[in-house]
Amino acid sequence: MKALRLDKYLSDLGRGTRSQVKDFIRQGRVTVNGTVVKAADRKVMPGTDVVALDGMTLDYEEFEYYMLNKPAGCVSATEDPRDPTVVGLITGSSRRDLFPVGRLDKDTEGLLLITNDGELAHRLLSPKHHVPKTYLARIDGPVTQDHIRLFQEGVNIGEERPALPADLRILKSAEHDALVELTICEGKFHQVKRMFEAVGRTVVYLKRLSMGSLLLDQDLKPGEYRNLTEEERNRLL
Ligand code: URA
Repeated sequence: MKALRLDKYLSDLGRGTRSQVKDFIRQGRVTVNGTVVKAADRKVMPGTDVVALDGMTLDYEEFEYYMLNKPAGCVSATEDPRDPTVVGLITGSSRRDLFPVGRLDKDTEGLLLITNDGELAHRLLSPKHHVPKTYLARIDGPVTQDHIRLFQEGVNIGEERPALPADLRILKSAEHDALVELTICEGKFHQVKRMFEAVGRTVVYLKRLSMGSLLLDQDLKPGEYRNLTEEERNRLL
């Protein structure tokens, strides 16, 4: 990690805007290695220098990674005038730079990674990388071997090209509903719903179970989140 300015160190940790933390520094509320520092541009080295605000030590981690079980009813955004956001659910962090890696529809539940690591987000979302995502879906009618074949061949969802081959597994299929798992390697808008629409079916419930190597922790209830473990982070990075 690189050395960074004291005001950036504090504002990255959500202690205030850049101008608010500059005031704190000027007021003598900030120490570095036990000595009051009044220069906002003082360079500090995370992990080596001990920075404290009002006597409370503030550890700096460049990146934070949270696994959220997104509940239905909140939007995959950082801010929204009407609806609760997924970032708003991460109440244990005061960072201001967190964002969701990709989007789930408002009514979709399940795995969503929340981070401030833009590079990782880019790698996971880049269409070049074809990161697989698995969804559990309840469908409003029977799902058959024909659907498995159609999804393998790539269904037409009204884009220039058909959807990439997708792996459909039938967990249960009856006359009026079915439960399936679908793995896709793209992330087009409403992709799963549009794929089923294309074969004459409607998704009535959708939950993401995995993204790349990251699996939704079954202990997380909708709305709950936890930090990624070191192993999960290493596998993703
Ligand atoms: N596909 C959808 O249709 N919706 C989602 O939220 C995610 C994938």
